[in-house]
Amino acid sequence: MAVDAEKVQRTPDADQETKPESASSRKVHTTCYMCACRCGIEVTVENERIRFISGIPESPVNQGVWCAKGGAGIMTQYSPARLTSPMMRAPGTERGQGEFVPVDWETALSTVEEWLRDIRQTDPSRLAYFTGRDQMQAFNGYWAKQFGSPNWAAHGGFCSVNMAAGGMYSIGGSFWEFGWPDVEHARLFILIGVAEDHPSNPLKLAIAKLKDRGGRFIVINPVRSGYGALADEWVPIHPGTDGALFMAFMQVLVQRGLYDAEFLRRYTNAAALVEEAPGTERDGRIWRSDDGDMMTVLPNGEFSPFRKADGKGQLEGVYTFQGRTFRPAFQILKDRLETCTPAWAEEITHVPRKTIVRLALEMGKMAMNHPVVLQQPWTDFYGTRHPETTGRPVAFHAMRGLAAHTNGFQTIRALFDLMMILGTIDTPGGFLYKSPYPKPAPPPVSPAPNRSDYQPNQAAPQPLLGYPLSPDDLLVEEDEPIRIDEAYSWKYPLAAHGVIQNVIRNAHDEQPYGIDTLMIYMANIAWNSSWNTLETRKMLTAKDENGNYKIPHVVVLDAYDSETVAFADVVFPDTTYLERWDAASLQDRPISEPDGPADSIRQPAVEPPKDVHPAADTLIELANRLELPGFVENGTVRYHSYKDFIQLWETAPGSKVGILAGFRGRDGRSAFVGEPNPRQLEAYARNKAFWFQPLPQSRKYYRMANQEYLNWARDVKFNATNDPIILNFYSEVLQTFRLAGQGLWPGKKPSDPALRKRLATYFDPLPFWHQPLELEASNREEYPLVLITQRPMTHYHSWGSQNAWLRQLLHENPLFVNPSTAERLGLKEGQWVWMESRQGKMTAVLRYSDAVEPGTVWTWNAVAKAPGAWGLDPNAPESQRAILVNHIIPDTLPPGKLQGTVFNNDPITGQAGWYDTRVRIYPSELHEVWPKVAARKPRQVEMTQLTYFGYSTRKGG
Ligand code: SF4
Repeated sequence: MAVDAEKVQRTPDADQETKPESASSRKVHTTCYMCACRCGIEVTVENERIRFISGIPESPVNQGVWCAKGGAGIMTQYSPARLTSPMMRAPGTERGQGEFVPVDWETALSTVEEWLRDIRQTDPSRLAYFTGRDQMQAFNGYWAKQFGSPNWAAHGGFCSVNMAAGGMYSIGGSFWEFGWPDVEHARLFILIGVAEDHPSNPLKLAIAKLKDRGGRFIVINPVRSGYGALADEWVPIHPGTDGALFMAFMQVLVQRGLYDAEFLRRYTNAAALVEEAPGTERDGRIWRSDDGDMMTVLPNGEFSPFRKADGKGQLEGVYTFQGRTFRPAFQILKDRLETCTPAWAEEITHVPRKTIVRLALEMGKMAMNHPVVLQQPWTDFYGTRHPETTGRPVAFHAMRGLAAHTNGFQTIRALFDLMMILGTIDTPGGFLYKSPYPKPAPPPVSPAPNRSDYQPNQAAPQPLLGYPLSPDDLLVEEDEPIRIDEAYSWKYPLAAHGVIQNVIRNAHDEQPYGIDTLMIYMANIAWNSSWNTLETRKMLTAKDENGNYKIPHVVVLDAYDSETVAFADVVFPDTTYLERWDAASLQDRPISEPDGPADSIRQPAVEPPKDVHPAADTLIELANRLELPGFVENGTVRYHSYKDFIQLWETAPGSKVGILAGFRGRDGRSAFVGEPNPRQLEAYARNKAFWFQPLPQSRKYYRMANQEYLNWARDVKFNATNDPIILNFYSEVLQTFRLAGQGLWPGKKPSDPALRKRLATYFDPLPFWHQPLELEASNREEYPLVLITQRPMTHYHSWGSQNAWLRQLLHENPLFVNPSTAERLGLKEGQWVWMESRQGKMTAVLRYSDAVEPGTVWTWNAVAKAPGAWGLDPNAPESQRAILVNHIIPDTLPPGKLQGTVFNNDPITGQAGWYDTRVRIYPSELHEVWPKVAARKPRQVEMTQLTYFGYSTRKGG
């Protein structure tokens, strides 16, 4: 299918072969991986060494901009932490000591193959495969599905699953990779809970554009970090309270009539009639016509199916029909908002009530009194032709600051309802979707729910992650979870990204069952990607009464010698991002822009060391040896490498949809849907490593309701149908879980009363604010401050601290405390302090900072390193002067009425509540970093040192 092939944007030299500039010098176009923004970069290679990295001007992501971190990718390439051959734990040594012997590939592969073969032939659930910062989730998910284990997920459980799931269940999209502020038209831009990196270059470009146009920029965050320094106004807020602020904003807007009633009526379910029938399974459900459409009420009092009402459904009132009582969803929220006053929110958020009112009025007046009107006609799904495209110039962007709390899902629901009230979703000046979003809210895809769906020697029948639509989609048998991480269980029902942070403790405790092999790709689960770190590390080394490890096998795939590598039995070395074929795909983590869909590739700029292979190639080799279906068909191997997989794999046999959307078809001239093209990667390489197709103006806005867009999205297989995507102001899905908690749902429901209570409490179909669970459980008088941590601009996860250039910028991190707080506690600038939580205590050096609200203390994340890890000298500042607050963040909640372990996770999605730690600080007699972990013997590696003049090689640790 040649969909709009002629419109595919090509760079000027797209059809010319890339030629080396000289025998010893060339430029290679690829995609940066020094953070998750995925900027297009040009890599200059001289004498097979990388000399320089710069941005690609045509890239839709960064438009030629590249940051210092991206440029420092050179030093990541020549890092002393590189793993250079497969390794196995040295005989006679214990896990965690980090002593290995190099082995040949056949030895490492056949060892792991034997473990996996045994698991697959007996019980595939005994493999737990979890991945971290990888950007090939379509591949990894497919690999695990074909293996047949339910136990796969990436790192979203501790990253931002609340943001993703909160958005997908509300609007069929979310921020960052899902959507983006329209700074071309916005006049007011509000950034909430965003630190330095979500995202980086694109957000810097957006702020510059907004400021150039004279727009106002407000930052709401407990810490005034990088972006806050550029803001016109910083609103300090106490951690975990943003939901209360949003409720109060809505209260002011609704009370003053400053809301977009037409947007709510036409594009959301705010006008849907919700039944009040306490004690029955109809309670809180939306009244539906015989064909399943939502019912609404017209101005003349007649009841009408939503799609026939042409946006005239009423938002307020109480209605009866044949003895049944209904209220529009908007009315229910309006009733709730009565108590959510600015004074109420001030107590919770520490934001003065006057500020709350002023900000709400500023948003409401800007939205309602200054509409953006574009001379662009469009037709909505009702068939109504709009002569112009009208929008509200108030844009938001939010990330982990909202997500990493155990009330994060409902907070993010509140933000999206606020945005619906302001009419700023996919309208000019507001939030804009990025392809392939919007999806149905939520998409009708969820994992196979029964234990019997995961049988020996069989692939799983459905994808392993997705979006349950009701309790019947959960992976439970009675009250028992089917997954090792308890994703999609009664404790964490909408765990759309899995719950990686639960895996080690559950595998150690054999709850819900024991596993045989834990396979980890690019996740530092023994250090900065776990909480209660020291105990987590002990669990990885714990043995049973027979002296065998409780987790029998640990396999790690990584490019670098992280803290987690020390706990592996077998290590497979991965390439860097500059040595491999790879893809940023519309199938998992797209790089699209609001203007149109885009994807990109990585291609090798240089050869990897001789005994290093891409992790995906290693997994494909294992799949082929195990003859996994989909990899080996009728004895024939389908993919010999990830390069093959990127070009040849289809979402379903014959679907003609694959990893990359551009240059499809045998002739490379199809887009989105087309035969696999065995020369597709060459086409991308000629097009400077990316593909971008601008959307026509008529398909750029109101995409949830824009009939032309919806038809096109169906044709290119973004969505299965061209049905409108009604925004979920009211989440009926959540109500089905609440009914299960109340014992009223006719299908699956838990038997444990504590589980029922949890569902009934938190699965409210309309947003509400509650105290994060850990903050509620810990004593406020004893621990009066809240600890948060943010990622610095210079580092991306733990990678930064092995990069010689970036280490010069940041290699230790003090604890930042507001001077008024410090003075009240009698603490001085530069003093060593103890910081103590319910979990434990640690030391830190205190620094005064006016850029933190007085009830919060904070520091940078992932700077500290275990001594000897990452190829660093055990006396490196990262081990001696940097602090890791993960040590004192509780991974579990105190015992309560719920059976078994209850993790410090959001009760809806399982998102880790790692911004929910109460602490106290006091003088320390110890003037060094504590707690300490034993130093690892540094590996003796070849370390290449880059100097200004060239390269020299020396031995070093
Ligand atoms: S913003 Fe991120 S992806 Fe872009 S150049 Fe910087 S490090 Fe690379």
